Amino acid sequence: MKLITEGDINPYYAQTLCMIFFPGAKFGADGADDPNTPTVTIRVTEIEGAARGTASIRIGDHCAESTRKFDYRPGMTAERVRKIAAGAAMLAAGEKFFGYRPSWGILTGVRPAKVATELLASGLTPGRARDALRRQYLLTPKKAALAVEVALREQKLIGEVSPRDCSVYVSIPFCPSRCAYCSFVSYTSPRLLSLIPEYLIRLCDDLEHTFAQIRRLGLRVRTVYIGGGTPTILDPAQLEMLLSTIARGVDIASLEELTLESGRPDTITREKMQVAADYGVTRVSVNPQSLDTAVLDRIGRAHSVDEFFAAFDAARQAGIPQINTDLIAGLPEDNFLKFSRTFDRVLELAPDNITVHTFCIKKAADILREGSGVYSLRGGDAGQCVDYSQIKAQEAGYFPYYMYRQKNTVGNFENVGFARDGAEGRYNVYMMEEIHSIFAVGAGAVTKMVHVRPKNPADTKIIRLAPPKYPYEYLRSDHRAEHEARIDAFYESEILD
Ligand code: SF4
Repeated sequence: MKLITEGDINPYYAQTLCMIFFPGAKFGADGADDPNTPTVTIRVTEIEGAARGTASIRIGDHCAESTRKFDYRPGMTAERVRKIAAGAAMLAAGEKFFGYRPSWGILTGVRPAKVATELLASGLTPGRARDALRRQYLLTPKKAALAVEVALREQKLIGEVSPRDCSVYVSIPFCPSRCAYCSFVSYTSPRLLSLIPEYLIRLCDDLEHTFAQIRRLGLRVRTVYIGGGTPTILDPAQLEMLLSTIARGVDIASLEELTLESGRPDTITREKMQVAADYGVTRVSVNPQSLDTAVLDRIGRAHSVDEFFAAFDAARQAGIPQINTDLIAGLPEDNFLKFSRTFDRVLELAPDNITVHTFCIKKAADILREGSGVYSLRGGDAGQCVDYSQIKAQEAGYFPYYMYRQKNTVGNFENVGFARDGAEGRYNVYMMEEIHSIFAVGAGAVTKMVHVRPKNPADTKIIRLAPPKYPYEYLRSDHRAEHEARIDAFYESEILD
């Protein structure tokens, strides 16, 4: 599509506004001369005491234009005022053009609760924060209430922020087969899966160095998260090797949480769950995504509904304290009836956490190559499914404690983690809210050095260190010494002086 910006507006922000109405859009010169190429113009001008945004959308002969103004006000930067004016104009133009009003208004960021947190931190009551989200950011009342509730829960969970806290992420980027919607870098072919033993040796070696550095810097590890891919692709002996390395590096009993994001039910066995329980794993994820066989087939999940129930039972029988279950709303082949049945069956199992994602499709996914038209503006039944999950979860005693959004989700909806009180997945919150450093180990696992200044959160310093993305490159990489030196330098200059 073609995007024209005029005035003081960040072009990247303008692109994100366009994607509210044109999910999956690519911006560039392709098709610029074709009158049917969607063309959006966003203009920001200054008028006395306010910013004025004007947005127009044109496709062929069809055009809609709207103008909105937003007053400058104390405590709000000029840039934010301009963004709100431009966003409100774009939303109004989109509503005229498409006859559709997105539920998240002009909030385009990954963390909608962050804006709610800022409003609460500025002294607003929860009621006034909800009001500001509706009036300024044009959220529906339902989404404004959700954002404020998540922000309040997150604050309670995070508690005191210390620069000496950290978490550790361990990457297992291998899966038994590739799901059709996946864009994650995960090895699945037999030839690449044969790298697992070599990868594990390198991973454990890097983990030992990481824990040694954490001890040397005098940091406290709050959570450890083993993610994937599919971590339970490891056999019981390999799992034991990994968990024993972690146990040598940190006192597992002192952790707030040790998660093994098992993932695919077809890799979860009683023996593996027993190994996990024996080493003090406190949380596992057993993820069906859907409990409808036709949907599982359509999205290429190579496991059955029965395998999910068996895997869940294996985790329960082993005595893992918390079990999370991931579902996806808006999947191809799914509909409200199938999703609500899935959700009800999951509720009957009473997992400790339920995470409901909205289907999101990225460029690398196989399903895109099938030309299945998966991008959807209104999201079909997805909105109804998301609403259903939020109402039913709360009725069953779960509350939303964690939320993020991604680009190109059907209907632009959110991903929400629900938990019973005291059973929240803490790593997710700490990582998403960037309250302390995450030492990440393994291929594609990005370490984030974080220094939050509680008195001035806007001055938070974050440095990212990315190792090679692919396991094959990771095995041959000598990035470790450089990363260690940069982490030492960060702590010496930022925190330890
Ligand atoms: S299990 Fe997850 S990471 Fe692995 S292929 Fe499927 S969606 Fe991708």
